[in-house]
Amino acid sequence: MREATGLAPLAAERIDDYLQLAHYWRMLEACGRAPAETPARGFIIGSDDLPDLDPSGHVLVWYDLDTPLFATFSRRQGKAKRTALERYDFEFGIRHEIATVAASRTGAADDPDPVVQPIFTDECDYCPWYDYCLGVAGDTASAHIKSGRLSIREWRALDQLGVSTLHELAALDTTDATFRDAYMPEVAHLGARAMDRLVAAVRRAGMVVRGEVLERQTEGPIDLPAAEVEVDFDIEDAEGRVYLWGALVRDGGADPVYVPTVSWGPLDEEAERRLAQRFLDWLRDLIARAGSQGRTVRVYHYSAHEISNLKRILGPGASGDLDGVFVDLLPVMQQHYFAVSGHGLKKVAPVFDFQWRDEEPSGLLSQLWYLEAISEDEPAASAARTRILAYNEDDVRATAAIRDGLRHQAP
Ligand code: SF4
Repeated sequence: MREATGLAPLAAERIDDYLQLAHYWRMLEACGRAPAETPARGFIIGSDDLPDLDPSGHVLVWYDLDTPLFATFSRRQGKAKRTALERYDFEFGIRHEIATVAASRTGAADDPDPVVQPIFTDECDYCPWYDYCLGVAGDTASAHIKSGRLSIREWRALDQLGVSTLHELAALDTTDATFRDAYMPEVAHLGARAMDRLVAAVRRAGMVVRGEVLERQTEGPIDLPAAEVEVDFDIEDAEGRVYLWGALVRDGGADPVYVPTVSWGPLDEEAERRLAQRFLDWLRDLIARAGSQGRTVRVYHYSAHEISNLKRILGPGASGDLDGVFVDLLPVMQQHYFAVSGHGLKKVAPVFDFQWRDEEPSGLLSQLWYLEAISEDEPAASAARTRILAYNEDDVRATAAIRDGLRHQAP
């Protein structure tokens, strides 16, 4: 075996690998097989191709399990480094205790209290126990703050200070010196960010209580570039390829026209490139025809996703001549509005009185519709294509509705 010096594993990003190895190490110890004479360590075989390090291209990385590598909260020091084995023992220990107490509960009045109450994290959004935990947790604040979520440590610190429910969080006075003196040492590992994070969570809690999605954080008219011909555009992708470039063309007072550039055939790199080029050619042609009549064109999209895909597919400079034509509406929204759960198009457009025709409008679901749309089951494929086109058309109509709203009736 050859060792490559001067290289080290990225510890913080690989905590899951470390914990897995720590788990195996403790299992070896439990059955008397852990080598006593060597430090606790294990290796991970990488999937990168690194022929500079070994002709085979394959390398493995040793992970030290009893070296303090991971910064964790420490009541005494604010932050302390712990080993992978210490992290593992803590995580395993608390789960063992939770399970032991839960297993001992029989429904009798003198049952021990559960060791933990649900605290909602990003993981919960995909958890099959979500509804159950929601029922158990009641009005807990962590169930309602889905954007700018606080960490478990922060929620626990609040709980210890009597702030657990949504309404308690909404009513919290973060300027209160007594509160701050008690709270800040508990989240010292976050430094100055701790209070900013909490202030934002309190603001969001208030919005949830009042049923608000957006809160204006600027005043006066919102300056948005305008043109005589305005185009909203939005892409749909699946399996890493863009198969639909949808555009809504609004030419003066005429009814807007939806123009999709789409492929339902197999898309390899070259086919995806041709489709994107077809869209860009169509757009340039529209701009040229308007220009020949002395009229201006602007093209609006919501997030950098559209332009970054255009550059990915056609090259960084492919649409450089149109840089002043494209307008990203998302940064405008972020500048002027504070959002209770993000500035996503689906969250924001309803505030501007826009509703999708589809009952389940979702970019993720549209990727499943796409699989149906390219299947050979013709009636189902045709229905899926119609659904995708209607969904994409509504996406661009939503962008147009936000644009109109920002100009004329900013909430
Ligand atoms: S929803 Fe799932 S992940 Fe979240 S607290 Fe409940 S069991 Fe844990």
